[in-house]
Amino acid sequence: MRQLTNYINGQRIAPQSGAYLDNVNPATGDVFAQVPDSGAADIESAVTAAAQAFPDWSKTPAHERSRIMLRMADILESRLDEFARAETDDNGKPLSLARTVDIPRAVKNLRFFATAILHTQSESHVTDGQALNYTLRSPRGICGLISPWNLPLYLFTWKIAPAIATGNVAVAKPSEVTPVTADMLADVAIEAGLPPGVLNIVHGLGAKAGAAIVSHPKITTISFTGGTVTGRAIAAVAAPMFKKLSLELGGKNPTIVFADADMKNALPMSVRAAFANQGQICLCGSRLFVERTICEQFTKDFVDTTKQLRVGDPLNESSNMGALVSKPQFEKVAQYVELAKEEGGQILCGGSPPAQLNDRCKNGYFFQPTVIAGLNHTCRVNQEEIFGPVVSIIPFDDENHAVEMANATPYGLSASIWTESLHRAHRVADAVQCGTIWINTWLLRDLRVPFGGMKQSGVGREGGDEAIRFFTEPKNVCVATGNN
Ligand code: NAD
Repeated sequence: MRQLTNYINGQRIAPQSGAYLDNVNPATGDVFAQVPDSGAADIESAVTAAAQAFPDWSKTPAHERSRIMLRMADILESRLDEFARAETDDNGKPLSLARTVDIPRAVKNLRFFATAILHTQSESHVTDGQALNYTLRSPRGICGLISPWNLPLYLFTWKIAPAIATGNVAVAKPSEVTPVTADMLADVAIEAGLPPGVLNIVHGLGAKAGAAIVSHPKITTISFTGGTVTGRAIAAVAAPMFKKLSLELGGKNPTIVFADADMKNALPMSVRAAFANQGQICLCGSRLFVERTICEQFTKDFVDTTKQLRVGDPLNESSNMGALVSKPQFEKVAQYVELAKEEGGQILCGGSPPAQLNDRCKNGYFFQPTVIAGLNHTCRVNQEEIFGPVVSIIPFDDENHAVEMANATPYGLSASIWTESLHRAHRVADAVQCGTIWINTWLLRDLRVPFGGMKQSGVGREGGDEAIRFFTEPKNVCVATGNN
């Protein structure tokens, strides 16, 4: 069995307590790795190593930091198949998805920020012939980076890359549910020659290792991606300590389909938006608003297309959907389907685990893609984040009605709008309260754009310049150039 280690000061080391947690392959239900159950003492060691590394790393020229990170990207890319397989065993997602999306995106994250730091502009402002202001940006020091289980290496590197590219040092904790590819990243860092202490990876539970990162007085910057409830708990600790905080949280994203939409794309893409990665992407469209005049036909077509999705062994190339990430997640999804029935919803397809699975997967946590109709947009199923393969179809009368219902949740992460009307597309994009709006597409990402949520979907933005700003401290220098 695989035994994972922490990666502190350039070394692979065991947790100080000697305790480990079981890591389960969700497609089989078998324990396949042991994860360090780290605590405050391990975080302390990581902080000490990071503090020692900071003076040199922060002064290392950008082109040298870039060179090492590009080397990490190359090594990771050369091991793509190995990483993709590990991600699938750890997370339950189809191997094809890990191979084409998760791991390539982790490579891109490293390359993007490794090269971005070679091209960033500095700001200056001339004050009416009196002064020249320029802004110095310095790395902030030790950054605490905490990531979730749904896109394990993709989101872990999305934080690590901008943090270390800008000259910071990091204490990073992956989700205890999917720690394997983060563990493998330690080898990549060692082989690429990343100096000891620049990146420290500490495994363990959120309430223990994660909480120790958030409350550590020397970690002044926290970047967190995960659930809204956890984000609130982290903010309660970090805010009084005046830490710089980025929170990327949950979503309950609307897909809005107008009668004039191009159905060739709107239909398959809204199915994909609902069920990709078993519905476990923060950006999945779980509330499907359809204009009433086409709702009956669209619902029929949506259900027919959904029924064609194959749920099965994630190692099988023909599987469109694999296993949910864990038993608790499986139980949560099943409970929400029961709640939907209690709230008066009709289950149009799915609603239970698949009838047949191969022998290897007979104890795995699989759930069929589930389509529900007949629920009011204010009921719990349409308000709370399920984070699974469950979508609810709700008809709307006109544009205002669609916008009103789309905005009627505490979340505001993303939305996709399907219409051929240019004017309406822009109007609705402006009116919907979400950090990302897709028009006639879904999940198309340019790493330069600001990424994050409104309302309870988060605080702050990641991506491109936003991330570089987040991980650096601006200092204004005002030089008198004339008489004051
Ligand atoms: P989670 O909040 O349970 O855990 C996320 C991470 O936080 C894990 O590493 C966990 O160990 C750690 N953690 C838990 N409690 C902690 C605490 N008190 N202090 C410090 N760290 C703690 O989330 P999850 O179940 O792993 O992930 C699913 C959630 O993540 C969903 O809500 C999803 O929408 C959200 N998500 C958001 C985005 C985004 O970009 N907005 C992206 C992916 C996932």
